[in-house]
Amino acid sequence: MSTEPKTLQQAIIYFSNPHNCVSYLVDRRWPNGVACPTCGRTDAAYVPARHVWQCKTRHPKSQFSAKVGTVMEDSPIGLDKWMTAMWMVTNCKNGVSSWEVHRSLGITQKTAWFLLHRIRLAMGQDHSEPMGGEGPFKVAETFVGPDPRKMHVRKRAERYSKFGGRPKTPVMGMLDRDSRQVRAKVVPCVKRETLQNAILD
Ligand SMILES: [Zn+2]
Repeated sequence: MSTEPKTLQQAIIYFSNPHNCVSYLVDRRWPNGVACPTCGRTDAAYVPARHVWQCKTRHPKSQFSAKVGTVMEDSPIGLDKWMTAMWMVTNCKNGVSSWEVHRSLGITQKTAWFLLHRIRLAMGQDHSEPMGGEGPFKVAETFVGPDPRKMHVRKRAERYSKFGGRPKTPVMGMLDRDSRQVRAKVVPCVKRETLQNAILD
């Protein structure tokens, strides 16, 4: 197995070499030898100049790269970015944000967010990146629910006591202006401390 870079700097240097990217990927994806993603044949001929394999069976997609059949397949983003981002996700114990990937790889934060989203999807993690990043974000609260005047008197009394004297449910929404992500959350009340705690979360 090819050597695992130990630091981010090593990873960036290592994955800047296309041969390293491919061998790193092949070692992990096909530890028993490269297999055609379409038919499973294991004697495809490697075309080093283009980093692709040519399957010996005639079928559509007989030429394939290491990206085929992975979350990277339909993306024009280079293997160097993908592999370094994956390295960051798997090696940074405290989690990695799209802002860090953006800065480290010299790609836009939007692209970095897309990479992380795909990688986490492949790893079965939900994207748990905290919102906010370094840019501004907007917070607003609103009340949703039925019109109290049309509610049954007992139901209305229940809701009044549950939500701090209001018949509607307080919902807080946050918009991250940079990543354009929106998150909404039911909050127990709209007291300043409650909202501040939710924002810090
Ligand atoms: Zn094949």
